[in-house]
Amino acid sequence: MSGKFDIVGLVRKVIFSDFARGLAITLKYNVSRSITLKYPDDEKWVPYVRFRGAHTLNRDPSGKELCVACELCAKACPTKCITVIPEEDDTGRGIADRVAKVWKVDLVRCMFCGFCEDACPTRAIRLGREYELACTDISSTVRFKDALLKPQPIHEGIAGGVVAKARFEKTEAGIRVVADTGIIKKRAL
Ligand code: SF4
Ligand code: SF4
Repeated sequence: MSGKFDIVGLVRKVIFSDFARGLAITLKYNVSRSITLKYPDDEKWVPYVRFRGAHTLNRDPSGKELCVACELCAKACPTKCITVIPEEDDTGRGIADRVAKVWKVDLVRCMFCGFCEDACPTRAIRLGREYELACTDISSTVRFKDALLKPQPIHEGIAGGVVAKARFEKTEAGIRVVADTGIIKKRAL
């Protein structure tokens, strides 16, 4: 017969020490605070400002479109999912005259790399914080200028990395659940 008699192991078995340790871990999680997000009807995540979600097009404080239709974003895009067709607005101010007649992005092909916003000389295009992009209609994945110019519910001035209370909002497309950024809970996820 070889090997030493394991008295410590025997004692641990007799007093069920491994079982007690496992039970302690389970009990610890039972009394700790839940980190489950009650998404989407009760709580919604507000992403960090640096989050790269669906595109937005922006205006200057006077309401003029910042996009000068230079097409640099379309050239920089590795998946060629941006289309810009320029036109002039006849104000005689050269490049500042240019506006986008067509500006569209195909979100199915986009990989949210951010190259387009890096290439933009006027900060017109930004990747916003809209992340709920699932849809049942493939045509809604192509977004045009008019939709992209609309003010975003979570604009750049709102700090992210927090959980907001959800609320129901009536839109032309039906009822949707949005983050109520006035009611924000700060908790780690
Ligand atoms: S985020 Fe990247 S892939 Fe998407 S449109 Fe911009 S450059 Fe193209
Ligand atoms: S969004 Fe920016 S980079 Fe793209 S066409 Fe307009 S000004 Fe040029």
